[in-house]
Amino acid sequence: MSEYQRIPRDQHGVSRKGISSAALRVLYGLHEAGFESYLVGGAVRDLLLGGAPKDFDVATNATPEQVQEVFRRCRLIGRRFRIAHVRFGGEIIEVTTFRGGASEEHEDSEHRQMESGRIVRDNVFGTLEEDALRRDFTVNALYYSIADFSVLDFADGLADLQARQMQLIGDPEVRYREDPVRMLRAARLAAKLRFSIAPASLQPIGKLAPLLDDIPPARLFDESLKLFMGGHGRLSFEKLEELDLLRHLFPGLAKISDDARQLIVSALESTDARVAQDKPVTPAFLFAALLWPSFIKRMERYTDLAPEEWLEAASSAAETVFSGTAKRVALPRRFSGVSKEIWLLQPRFAAMGVGRARRLLRHPRFRAAYDFLLLRAAVEPALQAQADRWTKAQTVEGADFDRLFQPTRGAAAAEEPGSLDGDAEAPAKRRRRRRRRKPRVHAPSESE
Ligand code: ATP
Ligand code: MG
Repeated sequence: MSEYQRIPRDQHGVSRKGISSAALRVLYGLHEAGFESYLVGGAVRDLLLGGAPKDFDVATNATPEQVQEVFRRCRLIGRRFRIAHVRFGGEIIEVTTFRGGASEEHEDSEHRQMESGRIVRDNVFGTLEEDALRRDFTVNALYYSIADFSVLDFADGLADLQARQMQLIGDPEVRYREDPVRMLRAARLAAKLRFSIAPASLQPIGKLAPLLDDIPPARLFDESLKLFMGGHGRLSFEKLEELDLLRHLFPGLAKISDDARQLIVSALESTDARVAQDKPVTPAFLFAALLWPSFIKRMERYTDLAPEEWLEAASSAAETVFSGTAKRVALPRRFSGVSKEIWLLQPRFAAMGVGRARRLLRHPRFRAAYDFLLLRAAVEPALQAQADRWTKAQTVEGADFDRLFQPTRGAAAAEEPGSLDGDAEAPAKRRRRRRRRKPRVHAPSESE
C-alpha cells in the first residue's frame, strides 16, 4: 500500500456512539470472522463533521458470498457489481467488497455498460487503496477502521474537509466523463454540507453539463429525490441553478418567471421543513411544483373553456408534460398520477356551492391540493381569498361551513370554473362568455 494517512482514535471525532447498532454489528461481525471492515463514505464524512449520518456503508475485503456466510439476513443485489445488503431490525447496511479500477465509472452508469465489455469494468475486486481512489470526492474516501478505530485517508480528504470543499479525486474532467452524475453529486453535497466546490472541480462543469442528457432517466429520478427530498432541497435547487445544471434535469425550468420560481422554492422549503420534523414527504407534491410552469405554459392557449373542456385539456396537457419529463427524469406513474390530481383539483377551490365544497373536502387529495393552493396564493394575491376560505373551511362545521360556500348571487355559481386564474367570484360571467372550442393538445414536437 502506498502513501496514506492514519489518524489514531484519539485524534479524530468519529466515535462508535454516532454509528448505528446495525452498522456496528456488521463491522464487528466481519472483523470477528477475520476480514477487514471499514465504515466508509458519507457516514465517516458526516461523523467527522459532527453530523448524524442517515445511512451507513461498509467496505470489506470479504467477497459478497463470504459476507453472506457471516450474516443470516443478507441479500446480494446488483448485476454487475454484487453488493451485500445486511439487515438488522429495520435497518439495511450496504456492504461492498473493495473494488479496483479507480478510473472507471460508477456501477449504474448503463451508458458505459453498453460500450465496453464486462471484464474490463469495475466489477473487479481491488485493494483498499484502489477502493478509495475510485470514489468520487476526497471527503467521501475516508475509512473508519473497526480494528483500531483509526481513520484512513488516501486522498487528502481530511484537508478538504477542513477547507470545507468538494474536490474530485483525480482529473476532474476524466472523473465527470466517467460518470456525469458526479456533477449533480457535487451540487447536492455542496448544498447539504454548505461546502464550496473546489475551483478545479467546478471549472469543467459548464462544458460537461450536457453529458447529463445521456444518463438513464431512472437514475436521474433517484438523484433528484436525493437532491430535493433529502432535507436540503432549496439549497440544492439554488446550487443547480448556479451551476446551470437545472435545465438538464428539467428543461421546462430553463426560463421561468420569478413567480413560478418562487412557487418551486416555497415547495422546496416546505419539504425541507417537513423532513427536518421527520414528517412524511411525497415526490408527487414536489413534482407538481417543479412541473407547474410547464403545465401552465401548455394551458395558456386555452381561455374561457367550459369546465368539462378544461378538464379534458388539462388532463392531456398534464400527460404531455409527464411524457416530456420522462425523457429526462423518470417520475414513476404512482407519483405523476397524484401530481396531476393536485393540478386538476385547483379550479375546484374557486367553486361555490355547499355540496361541491363538501365533496372537495372529502377528496383523497384534498390536503395536497390545498397545500398547493397555498403555494399559489403566496405568489398570486388574487387567490388569497380562496385560500383563506379553504383554511377557514377546515376549522368550522355545519351551518358555518355552509355559509362559507353559499353562492352570493342565486345559482349563478353552480358550475365549477374551468380556469386557474384567481377570478373566483365570477363564474356566471365566464359561463356567458364561453366559446365552444375543441381543446388542441398533443402538439407532438414540443417537449418540456
Ligand atoms: P449522503 O450523505 O447523501 O448519503 P454519500 O456520499 O454517502 O452522501 P451515497 O450515494 O450514499 O452518498 O454514496 C456512498 C459513497 O459511495 C460515497 O460517499 C462515495 O464514496 C461512493 N460513491 C457514490 N456515488 C459515487 C459515484 N457516482 N462515483 C464514485 N463514487 C461514488
Ligand atoms: Mg450515503
